[in-house]
Amino acid sequence: MKYYSLTDRNSVVDFATATKLGQAPDGGLYFPERIPTIDPDIITSLKEITKETLAFEILKPFVGESIPHDILKTIIDETIRFDFPLIKVDDQISSMELFHGPTLAFKDVGARFMSRCLGYFNRDSSLPTNVLVATSGDTGGAVVDGFSGIAGVRVVVLYPSGKVSAIQELQLTTGGSNVTAIEIDGTFDDCQAIVKRAFRDPSLLSRFRLTSANSINVARWLPQQLYYFFALQQWPADSPPVISVPSGNFGNICAALLAYKSGLPVAHFVAACNSNDVVPRFLSEGNLEIKPTVHTYSNAMDVGNPSNLARIIELFGGNITALKKIVSATSISDQETLETIKSVYRDYEYLLDPHSAVAYAALKKFIEGKNLYGFITATAHPVKFPDVIEKALSLKLAHPILTELSSKRKESISLAADYAVFHQWMSGIEN
Ligand SMILES: *Cc1c(COP(=O)(O)O)cnc(C)c1O
Repeated sequence: MKYYSLTDRNSVVDFATATKLGQAPDGGLYFPERIPTIDPDIITSLKEITKETLAFEILKPFVGESIPHDILKTIIDETIRFDFPLIKVDDQISSMELFHGPTLAFKDVGARFMSRCLGYFNRDSSLPTNVLVATSGDTGGAVVDGFSGIAGVRVVVLYPSGKVSAIQELQLTTGGSNVTAIEIDGTFDDCQAIVKRAFRDPSLLSRFRLTSANSINVARWLPQQLYYFFALQQWPADSPPVISVPSGNFGNICAALLAYKSGLPVAHFVAACNSNDVVPRFLSEGNLEIKPTVHTYSNAMDVGNPSNLARIIELFGGNITALKKIVSATSISDQETLETIKSVYRDYEYLLDPHSAVAYAALKKFIEGKNLYGFITATAHPVKFPDVIEKALSLKLAHPILTELSSKRKESISLAADYAVFHQWMSGIEN
């Protein structure tokens, strides 16, 4: 399989190069040159095969010659070594729980897969690959955990001091010895500006092998398709489900649409957004208007300019009418989010995190009063958002992973929000 850049279709690379580069040198997102068709026998026997076999069959064509099959199998087995249960919530709606990984959020799968692929690609090199990542909280935790202890890869994560939750800070600052957490005296935008500048800095590029671990990397994006196959393995009805995905950068739902295009039976998709409603407006009004980010309770979805929309449009060959036939998008307010957490807990004793609540409210609007059944993808464990849960329900939550985390000691380096200061620090590390 080859990948082309959405900016310049003649710029074509293999899976290994696309993973190592993250973004094409022309700034475009990489996209697979063809969408594989899943063997219909696999679709009819979904319930009989293991999730490991299924995952290998799905990802194999995307990886192509870049990784030998036996090694790819091991990488996949390690990536998905936890549960992905589909839980019935009410008569029409189930919840595909994607938060049973080590950092209690669905980004674990992408981060674990990407880190292991990079480790393999870097196996013979004496120079480590340096993953530079700026985080506002959630992504960084999954990246730090996913890359911890991976030989040949070093992670430098930048986060805004005092602006991530206590849990998130511990997830960022207690990684393995190959992880360095840098606390920037500034905002997330300052962190991101430093990382972006580092990627263009010739004096760093000449000494270090640098890469990013953000969600546009194909190795983080592609394994997210697996959730939808795992859900269908557990889907009890004969008719295909309506699937509601809480969306920010639109990577997860784009992967779901890729699965659909390769043959997974799905009735309809709902892209569930918070007040950051660029895509709902685009689908209803037809014009794409990028807006500043609005801060909401579902903060991992606070994205004003979703990168993966370009990939979604490409999947449909630019045909927006065809896209709208299978995808609806809905914007849910913070107030509706809180009310959904309350009512679902009261009526069904099921606890939603703010992101999953957005997905539930959007799905409910779509299927209510119709003879339709569906599921949401529950992207984070509610325990990760104690403030919102307390606001909705006056509940205090606990989880063994968090208890263990709180016994660890934070280790970070504090730097001013100044590129020259970061550059000096980075120049001082040994290769
Ligand atoms: C990242 C994230 C999302 C949004 O996923 P996208 O792929 O960016 O659309 C939703 N929920 C949680 C908990 C997240 O961390």
